[in-house]
Amino acid sequence: ILTVTHLEKKYTDNLVLRDIDFAVSPGEVISIIGSSGSGKSTLLRCLNLLETPTSGDIRYHGESILNPKFNQNHYRSRVGMVFQQFNLFKNMTALENCVIGQMKILGRSREEAEKVALKHLEKVGMAPYREAKPHHLSGGQQQRVAIARALSMDPEVLLFDEPTSALDPEMVGEVLATMTELAKEGLTMIVVTHEMEFARDVSTRVCFMDKGVIVEDGPSEEVIDHPQHERTKTFLTRYL
Ligand code: ATP
Ligand code: MG
Repeated sequence: ILTVTHLEKKYTDNLVLRDIDFAVSPGEVISIIGSSGSGKSTLLRCLNLLETPTSGDIRYHGESILNPKFNQNHYRSRVGMVFQQFNLFKNMTALENCVIGQMKILGRSREEAEKVALKHLEKVGMAPYREAKPHHLSGGQQQRVAIARALSMDPEVLLFDEPTSALDPEMVGEVLATMTELAKEGLTMIVVTHEMEFARDVSTRVCFMDKGVIVEDGPSEEVIDHPQHERTKTFLTRYL
């Protein structure tokens, strides 16, 4: 679906991503792990065009997303994102949060958008809270609404940037369970995470990033249980 070649991102003279090569196939669940500042969020943000790469290319079904003629709005609706801080619209109910993008971006009727939204709210266990505003929901519930909102756009790939890092420990499990179910259903996912159990047991593949480079990239059990590189080993000893 996505092919990244020689991707580089620089902030003034800070080279945050260096020569990243990375491809995503349908049905893959990829965990991106690595210490703070290694460039994980920047990579996701480049994939989603929230940031413009300094050089290199990102192809979506063979077409460069950086080409000025590329339909970036359409692309953004195909590649969804779930953030650490949920980013729900605060003055809207859970249902409205899941409906608004479908109507504005996909041009769906309210009736159809509500039907789709309810299907996904149900899937994440949030249908009973459809009329609740975010401040009446726990962090875990808000994050599940954010996932339902992303799913309502029928994404081909869903990007998650530390979706459980802002949650109280007792709420991490419910969000991971939702993500595990999506993985089982075959959704293509790229997940920046510090949850090593999720990385090993749910993802099909793990990428370890350090200082803007993908140091190690392979089947999840191999990378987590038998890392090849010293830097990966050192990182993992802090988490396992
Ligand atoms: P964390 O685990 O803390 O979320 P990360 O791996 O996601 O870290 P990034 O957020 O991608 O790391 O940041 C990588 C580097 O890029 C850091 O040195 C950061 O200071 C720098 N950086 C990120 N965003 C910007 C920005 N908008 N302007 C300037 N520098 C930035
Ligand atoms: Mg980050």
